[in-house]
Amino acid sequence: MTRKQAERITGLSIREVPSDPRQHAYIGVNGDGVALVAGRGWSPGEALKKLVDNNYADLRKRLAIKQKHKCWECGKFGPLEFHHIIHRSKGRVDSEENLIGLCPPCDRRAHGVRA
Ligand SMILES: [Zn+2]
Repeated sequence: MTRKQAERITGLSIREVPSDPRQHAYIGVNGDGVALVAGRGWSPGEALKKLVDNNYADLRKRLAIKQKHKCWECGKFGPLEFHHIIHRSKGRVDSEENLIGLCPPCDRRAHGVRA
């Protein structure tokens, strides 16, 4: 993964943090907070992928709380699957605007699979 790809997915402005040359640390900052990653022996691609994963995990947690752990579609309380409104295959964007939390049956329906 390149820095440009990671920036497009996360919507963060990502900078490499100077550190030990054997590790690559990147910092991504937006209005909500900071996602920082460092890993000894990681390639830039691995460090950037980790930053994207951490950002996505934080976003899912924030959205689950925002939705009060209720399915966006049917309102059922429970564990949520996160669905990209604009599908990941059409250019993944991990943003609050592009994600909704759905219960597993509603998530399957959203993917066109009969529950
Ligand atoms: Zn549902």
